[in-house]
Amino acid sequence: MNSDYLIIGGGIMGLAVARSLRARHKDASITLIEKESGVAHHASGRNSGVLHAGFYYAADSLKAKFCRDGNKALRAYVAEHKLRINDCGKIVVAKNEKELEALRELYRRGQANGVTLKLIDEKDLAAIEPNARTAGQAIYSPTTAVVDPIEVCNTLKREMETHGVSILTGTAYEYRFGDNGIVAGGQRFEAGMIINCAGLYADRIARDFGFCRDYGIIPFKGVYLKYEGADTPAKPCIYPVPNLRNPFLGVHFSVTVDGTVKIGPTAIPAFWRENYRGVNGFSPRDMVEILGREAMMFALNADFRSLAMSEMKKYSKHYMAQQAALMVKHLDAKRFSTWMRPGIRAQLFDKRTLKLLHDFVVEGDAKSVHVLNAVSPAFTSSFPFAEWIVSRFAPDAR
Ligand SMILES: Cc1cc2nc3c(=O)[nH]c(=O)nc-3n(C[C@H](O)[C@H](O)[C@H](O)COP(=O)(O)OP(=O)(O)OC[C@H]3O[C@@H](n4cnc5c(N)ncnc54)[C@H](O)[C@@H]3O)c2cc1C
Repeated sequence: MNSDYLIIGGGIMGLAVARSLRARHKDASITLIEKESGVAHHASGRNSGVLHAGFYYAADSLKAKFCRDGNKALRAYVAEHKLRINDCGKIVVAKNEKELEALRELYRRGQANGVTLKLIDEKDLAAIEPNARTAGQAIYSPTTAVVDPIEVCNTLKREMETHGVSILTGTAYEYRFGDNGIVAGGQRFEAGMIINCAGLYADRIARDFGFCRDYGIIPFKGVYLKYEGADTPAKPCIYPVPNLRNPFLGVHFSVTVDGTVKIGPTAIPAFWRENYRGVNGFSPRDMVEILGREAMMFALNADFRSLAMSEMKKYSKHYMAQQAALMVKHLDAKRFSTWMRPGIRAQLFDKRTLKLLHDFVVEGDAKSVHVLNAVSPAFTSSFPFAEWIVSRFAPDAR
């Protein structure tokens, strides 16, 4: 099969890239292949669904700009297609006075990035969420909202199909051949440009094209606990002040579009790429590769070691509930009894420095592009991020 553009991966990034390509190149033939039976089976359908506002990230990062603009773009998309949104806002609370400096740093980052934010005191906080607790100050983000990520991805899929994008599910990339060809699902595909948005497998596919030499993916599992009490402990999302040395935001309260309150996600190093539950998605090749990377990071990177050790404790429901209780005044901790669908982050690390990378990473040339660190908030950022990829690597029609 021949096409002008061939996208690998039917998560939010692959779909958003298809959308940007279609908007720019009206007559181009675009094919998207996805190994699962539908779109959003991995990170894009297993996340918190939070449209972040864009205040966590350093001002010069791609994340800061794309997250701020992506929040607006996805809000507009959701409104246009009449999809569900919970306009709940978000607060970031400090557990103790030592966290206030980092809280103010988040506020400064938000201001530098042009995000609407308020630095509030305990009285203002009580007016927004009487159950929230903080040590003196908190941040209020009115533009943070929650959507149903599966609904968004399925809508994008249908929209792309009506605009002539060929979406082939059950079609897994196998290997590369010739100049710009691949074999997927037993068929040969050739394309003017191949765009790899394969999430957890993006590093492996990129290496077949000569990219991603200095990086590798470490999968981090995020589990959630559902709150089943009769009360609502959090109406806006409630987040802790994160450790800014790690690329994760910490266990938080989020509220789904249907009002379910959950806490999570954790960031526990997984043993293989799709290590969701039990032996699901088990691959011996994957396990050897991933455990090797984790063992090296554990031995040589003190931040990774302390993160891994503190996150492992969160496999205990009791411990998770205790962490959540630090952010609110009242919580019936026994009501956190059900684990929800976990998600796994495709977190990139640099093999030379042994550091986890915070910003989005994209490598490519005139023939192929590889989206390598589409970690949170890539869901929020997806539309401007995809637009940037297309304008940078595929500005002219094939
Ligand atoms: C627990 C968790 C919570 C998060 N919360 C948020 C949040 O609240 N807000 C936010 O903005 N972001 C959040 N994120 C981040 C966000 O979900 C991801 O950044 C985003 O979904 C990445 O999209 P993607 O398309 O790159 O990856 P994916 O959604 O993983 O898509 C990759 C696709 O490629 C396919 N694929 C893989 N290998 C092959 C192959 N060989 N052949 C064909 N197809 C293949 C996969 O099946 C998959 O469908 C969260 C992530 C996690 C894990």
